[in-house]
Amino acid sequence: MIGLDDTDHPDVGCTTHALDSLVSRISEEHWSEILERRLVRLWPFASRRTRGNGALCVIASVESSSIANLEEICESWFDDLAESISKHPENGIKASPCLLISYNQTPESWYWESVRAEVDIENRRAEVLASGTKVLELGEGWGIIGASAAISWVPSKHSSWELIAWRDEARIGSEREVSHDAVAEMAQSHPETFLNRDPTKNKGLIAPRTPCPVLYGIRGGSCNSVTEAHIWLQARKDVEASHTWAPHRTNQMSDDHLVGVCTGTVLSPPHEGRGAHTNLRVLSNGKASVLVVFKEGGEVNRLVRQLIPGDQINWMGLESPDGSIHLERVSLHSAVPRISSRPSCCGTTMRSAGRNQPLRCLDCGNTSDKLWMSEPWSPTGVSSVSGWFEPSPSQRRHLAKPLNQGVPT
Ligand SMILES: [Zn+2]
Repeated sequence: MIGLDDTDHPDVGCTTHALDSLVSRISEEHWSEILERRLVRLWPFASRRTRGNGALCVIASVESSSIANLEEICESWFDDLAESISKHPENGIKASPCLLISYNQTPESWYWESVRAEVDIENRRAEVLASGTKVLELGEGWGIIGASAAISWVPSKHSSWELIAWRDEARIGSEREVSHDAVAEMAQSHPETFLNRDPTKNKGLIAPRTPCPVLYGIRGGSCNSVTEAHIWLQARKDVEASHTWAPHRTNQMSDDHLVGVCTGTVLSPPHEGRGAHTNLRVLSNGKASVLVVFKEGGEVNRLVRQLIPGDQINWMGLESPDGSIHLERVSLHSAVPRISSRPSCCGTTMRSAGRNQPLRCLDCGNTSDKLWMSEPWSPTGVSSVSGWFEPSPSQRRHLAKPLNQGVPT
C-alpha cells in the first residue's frame, strides 16, 4: 500500500495526477502489478485541508525480492516531486507532501479518525513511525494525515468508484472541452454512473473549474460502469481527448463522516444568521444545539425555514469546530398544528367580543368558547425522498450519500 497526500498548490497540480505519474513509473517494472487505486475524502473541517480534501493510495503487488527496487523508485520519484514543488508559486499554502509505503494492513482507526475529526499531526506521525511504515516527507509533512488514512481505509459495501481522466500537459489551464450534451447523454445511457449533472441547475458536475490537470471525474457504482462511460465519452467529437485515466475506489457517498440520524425538538423559530444561513435551535437528548443550513441548502433550507417551536425533526449533519451542526439531510418527524382561524358561523369567522368574553357570530348572535382552529400541517413548496430532504447535487459534500442511494435509517 502506497499512500500519498498534500502534493498540490491551489493553482498547480492535483494529488491524483501526482500519484498517476508514480504509478506509471512502478508499472514499467516487470516485477510489479498495480491492483487498485483509492481516493478517500476526509473530514470536511480539517484545519489544514487540501482542495477537495482527498488523499490517495495505490495497492501494488511486488515480488518480495524487488522491495528495495520499489523503494528506490519511490524515493527518486519523491525527489522529483520535491523539485517540482520548489517551482510552485509563492502565494498560497506550500505543499507539504508525504508518501508512505506499508507492507501490512495499518490500523483502520487512522482512517476513521481522519474522516470524522481533527487529527493531531504529531500523534499520528508517532503512530505511523511506530508501525514500521516507510515515511517520505517534505516541509511540514502535513500529508502524513491523509496518506496514512488512505492506506488504512477498508472499503465497505458503501464504497463507490470515480474514474479520473487527466489532460494533456499543453492544455492545462485552458478551458475544458466537455460538452453539456455529452454529459447529459452519458448520464442517460450509463445509468450506473451518478452525480454527473445537477438537474436543478442544469449544470454538469464531472469537469472541475480549477486550473488543475483533471479533465473530468466520472462517479459510479462499479469500476466497469465508470470505465465504460469514459470510453463512450472519449469516442465523441465534443469531448476533449484525455491524456491518461484511471478508475479509483472511493469513500465518496459513504456517509462515513457522519455518526447517524439524530432526533430533536425545535426550540425557537428559525433565525437568519450572518452570511444568509439559517440557524435553528433544537433540543436533542436533553441538550440544546444549533443547526445551521446554508442559503444554497435548497430543499433543506426551504423546509427548515417553515419550522416552528415544538416541531420534531430528524437530521444528519456534521458538527463543526464551533459546536454548531451543519445539516446535510433533514426530515419532519412530527409537526405541531398550525393555527388557521377562529371557528366560523353563518359563513363568516366568529369575532372576539372583548376580554374574557366568548366569540360571537355577528349575524346570528351565537357564541362559542374562545378558541383557535388548526389543521394538520405539512411543509409546502418542497420535495422529498421518502420524507427526507437534501441539498441539490452541486451543493452536497463528496462524502454525503444521496437520498436516491438509500434513505437514512
Ligand atoms: Zn351565526
